[in-house]
Amino acid sequence: MMMLPLIFSVAARVAGTHDGASGAGAGETAHCRFCGGVIGTEPAGLSGDPDEVPSCALCHLVRHLDRPRIDDEALLIWLPEMSQPVLNCLVREMHCRLRALGETLHVEVSPLLDTEDRPVLWHAQQALLGRSEVAATRLGSAGPGDPADALVRLSPSAYGVRWRNLGGVRLLPRGRFFAGESDIYPEIVDGWRKAAASAVPRLSASDRGNG
Ligand SMILES: [Zn+2]
Repeated sequence: MMMLPLIFSVAARVAGTHDGASGAGAGETAHCRFCGGVIGTEPAGLSGDPDEVPSCALCHLVRHLDRPRIDDEALLIWLPEMSQPVLNCLVREMHCRLRALGETLHVEVSPLLDTEDRPVLWHAQQALLGRSEVAATRLGSAGPGDPADALVRLSPSAYGVRWRNLGGVRLLPRGRFFAGESDIYPEIVDGWRKAAASAVPRLSASDRGNG
């Protein structure tokens, strides 16, 4: 599967970007073309454009910064040492683990109990969240809605090279994804967990034929 570049975008300019690649066939697991993670259950309304390249919800946010409630769904952080696709894969794993533990997915809410790997997940999320202050200092705001407004107004030529000005700015999902007034993110995370549970198990050392 050829991966595609994941760059901050707005809806009006990602429409019609489907490259003709087919989705997953029966019994196959669809994978995101931008981060490589499983798409899982794609809730209705995640992608309103049938011509758009299918993506997971996290990459969908990056490519639709002009979503109505994007400031509730994500925030900007300064994280030059990690690419956006890698960050999305990391967040997906963290949120799947939090969901399995019965914890909230909201990034700013601390876990209920200090057991199992809750402290690790909490501190990892806080480390990422702390990078929003750097982004706010550099950009004037950590809200994704501001760059979305700027992207909408860019000329086609400037929009085509927008990645040059982004530097180490990344989009950190806040653990919410709205379809209208409903937060459907828990359903999305459950879809990832279901896809992971049904994935073909990896071969053990003995299965690989060590002799
Ligand atoms: Zn993705």
